[in-house]
Amino acid sequence: MALVSTNPATGETLAHYPVMSAAEVQEAIAEAHAAFEVWRTWPVRRRAEPMRRAALLLRDEVAAQARLISEEMGKPIKQARAEVEKCAWVCDYYAEHAEALLAPQRVQTDAYKSFVSYRPLGVVLAVMPWNFPLWQTFRFAAPSLMAGNGALLKHAPNVTGCALATEALLRRAGFPEGLFRALRIEVDQVEGVLDHPHVVAATLTGSTRAGAAVAALAGARLKKTVLELGGSDPYVILEDAELELAVEACAVGRLQNSGQSCIAAKRFIVVAPLVERFTERLVARFRACCMGDPRDEATELGPQAREDLREALHRQVTRSVEAGAELLLGGTLPEGPGYFYPATVLGGVRPGMPAFDEETFGPVAAIVRAEDEEEAIALANRSPYGLGAAVFTRDRSRGERIAEERLEAGSCFVNAFVRSDPRLPFGGIKRSGYGRELAAFGIHEFVNVKTVYVA
Ligand code: NDP
Repeated sequence: MALVSTNPATGETLAHYPVMSAAEVQEAIAEAHAAFEVWRTWPVRRRAEPMRRAALLLRDEVAAQARLISEEMGKPIKQARAEVEKCAWVCDYYAEHAEALLAPQRVQTDAYKSFVSYRPLGVVLAVMPWNFPLWQTFRFAAPSLMAGNGALLKHAPNVTGCALATEALLRRAGFPEGLFRALRIEVDQVEGVLDHPHVVAATLTGSTRAGAAVAALAGARLKKTVLELGGSDPYVILEDAELELAVEACAVGRLQNSGQSCIAAKRFIVVAPLVERFTERLVARFRACCMGDPRDEATELGPQAREDLREALHRQVTRSVEAGAELLLGGTLPEGPGYFYPATVLGGVRPGMPAFDEETFGPVAAIVRAEDEEEAIALANRSPYGLGAAVFTRDRSRGERIAEERLEAGSCFVNAFVRSDPRLPFGGIKRSGYGRELAAFGIHEFVNVKTVYVA
């Protein structure tokens, strides 16, 4: 049994990685736990040293790490470099701020002294997807390791090379041997890992289906989970929006990572007076987008990460057109090797169509017409998901009010596309999951929030 990594730009097999046996998995868990028992005793300031070195290594090795990402899942090379740089940023962020974020907090009570202390929990399992093979891992690992935990990574099989490269990098950075382990396991082995008493919690980024499955397994064992799942982010374009800015933000927000991002812009809800002009400009912008070899610096749109994912996306487009959406650009499978899917624009999208109701994980823009602000907001919120959302208006206070009070999502942006930032919490509501990553909230997810009361 092997995990297979395939280059999606060519369809060629890159490597086979043998799946770990049950005994090997048990050994890895024991090692991670043993390393955790030592690591937890290190002061936070000392933990920051390997974390800073990890950031340095990522920057030194940006070219090689980016090439690996690009080969395994097809990310255009420029974007792959940006992903590696962002991982270095999150390592630096937590190296610098963890001590303050984890500092005990005094609380005045009738005690002689009472305070809250953030203590490590243990070994945490991370089940991660292929779309940001380094970032998804570091986004979890940087805060969790700084909090004093150990970590096990079950990565998506097609990015096993990235998983092993991350494990090796963290070892070279000076984290204790075994503290972070990449498990080469299949889905049916996840239950056994969660069963282990030394695995105390789990985090999953991926589809709602996978999240629900892992949460059920963890819940049955009373182990905490954080879930960062899919999204169908609405971008509301109001009649007073700055059109060029809105079109560019929508295009970049949709095409980044070849459309395969949980926080990609997915539904463009445009109020009536702007629909035609917005549509025309978005189609022109999508038409100009350069699809091709991810190794090429000029490429904006690479292949989809797997053939089955491209097929699923194409079915969503076809079914949406059958249901009445207008195919304005793209929507056909290109000839030739690799799992490429062209930049596609659907007009006249309505609830009841897959492009509205489901997450589309690829370069497909769904344009939805709304009569006015009220209908636009209602359509935006008419989704089982609630990860990100954006609103475009020249009136910043109007935008702020809509972002804060009206849109149902974990992150709401005004006049910009949704992106994650180590300084801000990240996560969703509804079927987009629960819990938060990044910032103070992220580092507090996997800790024992301990009350200490001294009478
Ligand atoms: P999955 O959610 O199936 O995969 C994500 C991770 O979860 C992988 O490591 C996967 O392992 C693992 N996994 C899946 N099912 C289980 C399970 N029952 N128990 C334990 N682990 C599990 O995503 P896919 O790659 O299949 O993509 C399907 C769709 O999911 C996409 O089209 C997109 O809509 C959404 N998605 C969302 C992402 C996000 O960032 N929110 C990221 C990726 C996908 P394995 O690959 O071995 O099955």
